[in-house]
Amino acid sequence: MKLTLGVDIGGTNARAAVVERATGRVLVSAKESWTERQPEKVVAEVARLLAKVMAGRDTGDCPVGVGLAGMLNGPVVVNAPNLGWRGVDFGTALAGAAGRRVLLFNDLSAAAWGERSAGAAKGSQHVLTVFVGTGVGSAIITGGRLVEGATGVAAEFGHTKVELEGGRRCGCGDQGCLEAYVGGARLTEWMKEEGLTGTPSDLEHLAGKGDPVARRLYDFAVGHLALGIANLVTVLNPEVLVLGGGVLSHCPGMVDRIRDVVGHRAGVAARRAVRVELARLGDDSGLVGAALLAAERAQAGAPPG
Ligand SMILES: [Zn+2]
Repeated sequence: MKLTLGVDIGGTNARAAVVERATGRVLVSAKESWTERQPEKVVAEVARLLAKVMAGRDTGDCPVGVGLAGMLNGPVVVNAPNLGWRGVDFGTALAGAAGRRVLLFNDLSAAAWGERSAGAAKGSQHVLTVFVGTGVGSAIITGGRLVEGATGVAAEFGHTKVELEGGRRCGCGDQGCLEAYVGGARLTEWMKEEGLTGTPSDLEHLAGKGDPVARRLYDFAVGHLALGIANLVTVLNPEVLVLGGGVLSHCPGMVDRIRDVVGHRAGVAARRAVRVELARLGDDSGLVGAALLAAERAQAGAPPG
């Protein structure tokens, strides 16, 4: 299997690509935006995108790997808040429409696999990936394998708690999750509640200038993020820590804080062993990772779904 197919489904658009398996190179890709997110419309749109990128290429019987933000169970999207889907058997529907085997992956797992295969952590067997964008996501690769947990929801770092009781409300329904403080969407809300306007990058700027309210929010949010990551480094002993996502890519001060706290507060042996890198594949990490994961799983003979 020389080629493989990847799809990245976001809240407002989908991308599909033919990916070279040996290198993770995107040979051709196509993108489509939509306003309607009904599953049957998204299935039809993604099938059309796949047909477009496959035209004139010998893709054989290679599978399709789909990365999307949500909780998954085999081919079923259990919950994808940014699509408004609950209990949608998207994998089976897309397999029917595309006439190919389809495997679904959490977007962060896909992105981590992309970075590990062709990006910042290329060739590493032990990788911790943390992305801070609209939300906070992470993925763990240890011994060259993704850590998925007993029910496939391991590595939900964004929903680790930073308050013992109560705390800010999170999109997952709980309170006091890290994501409710430092995820871009919730951090922006928090800023508004405290009389500050703008983006997380504006908050970083204001905090840097010594604004007391900005400092309080920034120090709490970024302090917990950095300490949480340092603790994960202590627990997991990764070779590489890959940092990415829209918020981190626009807030260099957050990245510096994470580097500093990991360098001082992670366990002595673990912090000496870890290399901190920024994600390199940009928007392609999930697309490439989903394609390569699907090829790997299909070859390993994983059950369909
Ligand atoms: Zn949460």
